[in-house]
Amino acid sequence: DRIARRQDREFSEFRKRLKNTEQFKVTGGVFDDATFAALYKLVQDGYIEAIGGPISTGKEADVFEALAPEDETVAIKVYRINASDFRQMRDYLEGDPRFENIRGDKKRVVLAWVKKEYGNLLRAKKAGVRVPDPIAVQRNVLVMEYLGDETRAAPTLDDADLGNPETAYEVVREYIRRLYDAGLVHGDLSEYNLVVDDGELVVIDVGQAVTVHHPNSEEFLRRDCRNVANFFAREGVDADGDDLYDYVVSE
Ligand code: ATP
Ligand code: MN
Repeated sequence: DRIARRQDREFSEFRKRLKNTEQFKVTGGVFDDATFAALYKLVQDGYIEAIGGPISTGKEADVFEALAPEDETVAIKVYRINASDFRQMRDYLEGDPRFENIRGDKKRVVLAWVKKEYGNLLRAKKAGVRVPDPIAVQRNVLVMEYLGDETRAAPTLDDADLGNPETAYEVVREYIRRLYDAGLVHGDLSEYNLVVDDGELVVIDVGQAVTVHHPNSEEFLRRDCRNVANFFAREGVDADGDDLYDYVVSE
């Protein structure tokens, strides 16, 4: 019918508009039809108005700036369904009571993953851990608060001006403990998944975070603690992975 035809036309206009912007020349137009449709739905729903430059290009997902209504900037993380290592992703969904029945194909696993990242952001935020505010999920696209300023995205901890490393270590220690108290283990925590936004430490990339029910959650927590403690030890802090672990799990 006419409405459907008009929607088709609007969609292909949107797609053309996206495809002609600079960043798609850079990324080589990596988005498939379904991803364009998800982005378009986010535009229709009023979460984004236009896609800006790429912030990061990863193996499984790309992160872009996007313009939101009222001149706000948001960040969008776009997962690539085909490039994703979904077997490993599926392992990370194991034992999570929220995603008990996700077996099946790659697509379903990746889509569950994006919802999991959104859910984890929400749970971390409620637990008092500074993370990007989750805003929306549409299929393989996560919309979240943008960290950074007009000139650039917030740097990761390895690149940031730390200020006082002792204080920073204490903050990260508290974050890990709060996450754990809320039943979550990050699972990939290191100086590369912490950013410094306007002097504030922010935990990012919580897609793989598992609940404490996961069979490997203890091992993941030990690894997170080791990564973080080793980084801060290199910065001159008296930090040790085992001590950090004991602190996190202690009553
Ligand atoms: P990688 O494999 O590089 O770790 P990833 O797929 O795990 O990438 P993230 O770690 O979530 O994805 O994000 C990649 C990079 O994008 C981050 O290191 C950070 O620099 C930037 N980034 C992520 N989220 C945001 C955000 N909300 N605001 C600003 N920059 C962000
Ligand atoms: Mn990351």
